[in-house]
Amino acid sequence: MTEQTQSTDEDGRTDVEKLDKEYVFGTWSYQSEVEPTEIVGGDGVRFRDAHENEWIDFSGQLMCSNLGHSADAVADAIAEQAHEGAYFAPGFATEARAKLGEKLAEVTPGDLSKTFFSTSGTEAVEAAIKIARMYTGKQKIISRYRSYHGATAGSISVTGDPRRLMAEPGVPGAIKAPDPYAYGSTLEPMESLEYIDEMLMLEGDTVAAILVEPVVGSNGILVPPDEYLPRLKEIAHDHGALLICDEVMAGFGRTGEWFGSDVFDVQPDIMTMAKGLSGAYVPLGATIVTPEIADHFEDEMFCHGHTYAGHPVACAAGLAAIETYQEENLIEHASDVGDYLGQRLEELADAHPSVGDTRGVGLFRGIELTKDPDERVPFGEREDKISTGSTVVDDVAAAAADRGVYIANMINTLIIAPPLTITEDDIDEAIEVLDDALEVSDGAMNR
Ligand code: PLP
Repeated sequence: MTEQTQSTDEDGRTDVEKLDKEYVFGTWSYQSEVEPTEIVGGDGVRFRDAHENEWIDFSGQLMCSNLGHSADAVADAIAEQAHEGAYFAPGFATEARAKLGEKLAEVTPGDLSKTFFSTSGTEAVEAAIKIARMYTGKQKIISRYRSYHGATAGSISVTGDPRRLMAEPGVPGAIKAPDPYAYGSTLEPMESLEYIDEMLMLEGDTVAAILVEPVVGSNGILVPPDEYLPRLKEIAHDHGALLICDEVMAGFGRTGEWFGSDVFDVQPDIMTMAKGLSGAYVPLGATIVTPEIADHFEDEMFCHGHTYAGHPVACAAGLAAIETYQEENLIEHASDVGDYLGQRLEELADAHPSVGDTRGVGLFRGIELTKDPDERVPFGEREDKISTGSTVVDDVAAAAADRGVYIANMINTLIIAPPLTITEDDIDEAIEVLDDALEVSDGAMNR
């Protein structure tokens, strides 16, 4: 990408920033507070704005740019497909969609084999809920409090974090369970499982599925004990419910395995994907099911679809993205470099009293801040209902951004999920910046 030098107004805003502010809704924010920065390009693990700032993308934007910002094979596949035939209705077979379906059957766990394509993680989750309900003939979905599954009516109703509050009561039958959150919950992770077992017993035979992120993402990078997910599947099946794993954030190499489910050697009944599926080059979501579930719809109508279900351009991007993961051995690389990242984060934890916990797997890691490490007290909560966490974690992220490292945060946790192409040198550079930025939270401990 070519660098652009922009003229700015007296407040330092470019024309694009002014237009964006005036005509486009900012997501999940008070519009009065939205101050968008114009981004002009990216290259590898770095991106830059119109004000001559450049950042290491330590969160892969919204934990989705798994291939970085210059995956030419994906960009070329998109252009080629758009020239050959950009769109044909889902009722027609297209090469890109058929081959991507086959590829997903290859890389997903066990015998997961038939995919419904959509355009986002939210839609992938909506489809999973609907399929589970149609297949089981039951309506309830158990999900967990510390989870995010999407923004539409169904997916926000099964979301557990405070983003759901504005949409409540939401769709009927969405029930919440406790989480495997060793650092901050009063329940031990495996105790939280037994709680779910009890819930299923008390709900009787009315639960269609348990829906979980195998490794929780935006709610703080929560990695359950090894035996958690296998036992959860057992509990679900004992009660006639399906296990849905939401791999929208954890999937496609993020954890150093193809999927979060692979970390625990579990094959879910239904799996949702998006984000890394296309490396974020185009919007693409997917919901894959077992042959048994797929067969059910031989005789019951699969009553679901979208105009852009399996859009050829998106599927061409997905296919090229998966081929790139494979050809460049990015899953193995994420595992290796992820171990190194984990070690470097441990060093930060040792050096900074405000780092309460570092945790994660592969290139999916979190730094949870605390104002009292002994009592594990989080920094103060915000006053509004939707933005959870504290301004201290925002301040740390801002300090890192000022020094050239972009890092997302939520609920007292800095979320690290860089492109899988990141190197140990890039990690060292980012860690040095974080080391400085964490002085901000150290300094806020006695406030
Ligand atoms: N599920 C999980 C686990 C997610 O992390 C997200 C988004 O962050 C979603 C679903 C929703 O995906 P999207 O924002 O693409 O609709």
